[in-house]
Order: sequence, then structure tokens, then C-alpha cells
Amino acid sequence: MNIAFIGLGNMGAPMAMNLLKAGHALKVFDLNPAAMQALAEAGAQAALSPRAACDGAECVLTMLPAAAHVHSVLTADEGVLAGIAPDVPLIDSSTIDPASAQRFAELAARQGTPFADAPVSGGTGGAAAGTLTFMVGASPALFERIQPVLTAMGKHIVHCGGVGMGQTAKICNNLVLGVSMAAVAEAMSLGAALGIDTKILADIINTSSGRCWSSDTYNPYPGIVETAPASRGYSGGFGADLMLKDLGLATGAAKSVHQPAFMGALAEQLYQALSQRGDGRLDFSAIIKLYRDA
Ligand code: NAD
Repeated sequence: MNIAFIGLGNMGAPMAMNLLKAGHALKVFDLNPAAMQALAEAGAQAALSPRAACDGAECVLTMLPAAAHVHSVLTADEGVLAGIAPDVPLIDSSTIDPASAQRFAELAARQGTPFADAPVSGGTGGAAAGTLTFMVGASPALFERIQPVLTAMGKHIVHCGGVGMGQTAKICNNLVLGVSMAAVAEAMSLGAALGIDTKILADIINTSSGRCWSSDTYNPYPGIVETAPASRGYSGGFGADLMLKDLGLATGAAKSVHQPAFMGALAEQLYQALSQRGDGRLDFSAIIKLYRDA
């Protein structure tokens, strides 16, 4: 299939590589020429604009930082909506707020372009391995159409409902993750301050009712899980600033439906404090620094 892919960053580049590996023909665009060069060397065609990338495309994907970037890539004079042929599916895999996804779907629908939001989880490792989870918001018919394309990049392709529901699933999951990581960081730091062996404490939590992914797979206390960022100085992984962004999306979406988000708002402030002290680029489990360095 001829595919246009726009946004070749930490996630987009390996996703695009997997589309190439699956035998698709790719036209790519990114503001960063080096990112396009790497894909061109792997067999993709570098385009001069999102509009040019859409020339001849049978499916268009975007993987951009935030809603403002998606808006500009879609609506600019040289943007996607100016170049996409009628009835060609447009899939946005960026993590953005559900309301923006629904607004983009309306814009696209005005010219007969079917739109799906399909944010991902699995991180850069999952993007490289082609094992991402896609949370898809689309009509059932569009979901059927785009599933084969997404399968080249992911292992779990889940239809979450109509447009915006992929983003809803994504930001609700990350709200749990941001809060649970802060809770585990708080408990591990408290235990350490009270004098318990932190490995024994982690074992107890992981075999008791406090067990969760933030504790048993990604524990923020150094030396508990060898493969976790905490055991390598909080490098790699999922950046604290990205978690801060996602918690902001969750609390913003909560406001829009008059829904309280007590824990999400507090977690957002914790990650804001981590970012302010200059640690926003560290893995989000570095939230434990707010407890241990004090
Ligand atoms: P990134 O910053 O590494 O990449 C974004 C890319 O978009 C960059 O290459 C940038 O040059 C390009 N870009 C920005 N504006 C552009 C424009 N107007 N036209 C063309 N290209 C443009 O970000 P990422 O880590 O790849 O994340 C992308 C999205 O996926 C974000 O919404 C993020 O929240 C989400 N996400 C990231 C991860 C992760 O672990 N990194 C995991 C899940 C979801």
C-alpha cells in the first residue's frame, strides 16, 4: 500500500521503519531533515511537505508531539488536508486530547476524509519491535479498513469506540500510571526512611494488595528491578515531561466534562515540580527524587 507518514521522531521513525519492513511504499515528511534522511536510506521517499507526502497515498499517518502540531500539519496550505485524496483514511497516532481529535475528525469529514485517532502505548521499545498497543477511535467500518496497516506496527489493536475514544483510553491509563508511580515512590521512600530493607519491602508490595506495574516491573527505587530506568540513573524510558503532558491532557479533559480529577491534578503538580528542577527529560519514575533527595 502507498502510505504517507508525517512525524519521524522517537516513535514515528521506528513505526515508519516497520511499515517499510512490511512491504509498504512510504512517502515521509518531518521538519527535521536528518530524520527524513534516515528513512530515505531505508527505502522511503522524502517529501517536501505533508501535502506532497500525501500524493498518491492510500493511507496517511501522523505521529506528532501535541495537538497544535497536528492542527498545523493537517490545515496548513501545504498540509495533509490539501493533498489527501477523497476517502483516504487519515490516522493520527499522536497523544492529544479527545476534543481536538473530534475537531480534526470534523474538519476532515468536511472533505470526505475518514479520520481515526490511534494513540499508542509500548514506548520506543515497542515501536522498534512492532509490538505497540493501538487504542483506536473510529467508526467500525474505518477500524476494519485501517487494522491491516496498524498490525504492521503493533501487536494489540483495540477498537475503543468512536473518534476520541482512543485518546480517552490513553489518557485515562496514563492517569493511573502517573498516580501509581508517585504512590510507589512515596511508599518505597517512606519504608527506606523507616529502615526496612527496600528489597523486602518491594517483595511484600509485589505479593500483596499494593502490587502494580509501577512496583513489580518498573519500581522507581534503584536496584529493585535490574531492567528498570531506576537502575540506570533514570535514563531512557518514558520522559517525565511526556507524563506531565499526558496528565495535563487528563486534567484538561476532566475539566471539560466537569469531572473531578483529584489524584490526576496532584500527580500533575508533582511532575511539574520534577520538571521545574530540571529533571523533565529523565524517565518519569525519577519522581522518587522529590522524596529521596529532600
Ligand atoms: P518526538 O518529539 O520524538 O517526535 C516528534 C516529531 O515530530 C519530531 O521528529 C519533529 O521534528 C516532528 N514535527 C514536529 N512538528 C512538525 C511539523 N509541523 N511537521 C512535521 N514534523 C513535525 O515525539 P515522540 O516521542 O515520537 O512522540 C510522538 C507522540 O507519541 C507524542 O504525542 C507522545 O506523547 C506520544 N507517545 C510517545 C511515547 C514515547 O515513549 N516517546 C510513547 C507513547 C506515546
